Amino acid sequence: MTEDAPVRIRPEIAALPPYKQGKQAGPEAFKLSSNENPYEPLPAVVEALRRTVGVNRYPDATAARLRQALAVRFGVTPDEVHIGAGSVSILSQLMLAAAGPGDEIVYAWRSFEAYPGLVLIAGATPIEVPLGPGARHDLDAMAAAVTDRTRAVIVCTPNNPTGPVVTQAEFDAFLAKLPPDLLVILDEAYAEFVTEPDAVDGLRRLGIADHPNVVVLRTFSKAYGLAGLRVGYAIGHRRILDAARSTAVPLSVTAQSEEAALTSLQAEDELLERVHTIAARRDRLAAALRTQGWDIPDAQGNFVWLATGGQTMDAAARFEDGGCIVRPFAGDGIRISVGEEEAVEKVLQIAASVVEDLP
Ligand code: PMP
Repeated sequence: MTEDAPVRIRPEIAALPPYKQGKQAGPEAFKLSSNENPYEPLPAVVEALRRTVGVNRYPDATAARLRQALAVRFGVTPDEVHIGAGSVSILSQLMLAAAGPGDEIVYAWRSFEAYPGLVLIAGATPIEVPLGPGARHDLDAMAAAVTDRTRAVIVCTPNNPTGPVVTQAEFDAFLAKLPPDLLVILDEAYAEFVTEPDAVDGLRRLGIADHPNVVVLRTFSKAYGLAGLRVGYAIGHRRILDAARSTAVPLSVTAQSEEAALTSLQAEDELLERVHTIAARRDRLAAALRTQGWDIPDAQGNFVWLATGGQTMDAAARFEDGGCIVRPFAGDGIRISVGEEEAVEKVLQIAASVVEDLP
């Protein structure tokens, strides 16, 4: 039974389910459902949070210190950096800035589950282009889906939840096919985990001057382990980021979050050491799953994808019963984050029995 709201709600919003988060885990289970970093925060980050005083004052709305530090880190100017309360909030700002009713936004599917909702919230129409072989972006089909109504294209690399990257050569060829004034959002939330040498890297090899229509999104949530503090950033042309700043909910990045992100940047070597360990663990997990008979797409993030099809919900329940909370996408597959070493062992044990019962 549906019950109407007592006031008028935009119909597309009334029909939109709220964002569904990966399931929480009790103390007995490993939480492998949200691609989080299993490590505890660095002592320096805890100390930075403790020392940040003044919660009776608003934070710096522009996060100037963090923008400055990221500008130095990536060789851009501070106005070519924008900070948001998680990169998902910057995605939303870009959608609102670029598109409205009658406009289209193209992205691959399956990909990050927040995309369709953010497009609909902007009032625009999502155009979902099925992934190609190997659960990879089909960039030819995506370029072909661009029309004169398209206002943005989102490319997620490594693709959440399936894992493969887009290569630099593929991305260059894709850009060459697109109108130069079409916004291209390169969502690189998992970039630091990538070990594939041919992968596109929006901050190492793509220049803002050469590609002023490309905005690169990164986050402190994954490799830097600050998911709970909500800090993400975009690097791109000042005019595009000014538009994102204009659609942002003001003051949503807290002083604590900015300070923790600054401290994490300073401790980057130590954090990237952890990233290296997680990537090695991921490769071991993927290889062992393939040995068990699973067809695992190239895994370049901090997660692996099991194509469980019609058995997905049953299989996810078996992982849960075994003490591993995973992320099922009904009818399609299961995404498992690379967690603690013991979690990997547990996943492998359960996966070995699940694979035997798949058709
Ligand atoms: N992009 C992708 C592809 C993601 O998987 C996520 C998080 N699951 C985000 C963006 C958003 O991350 P955050 O808002 O924590 O920065």
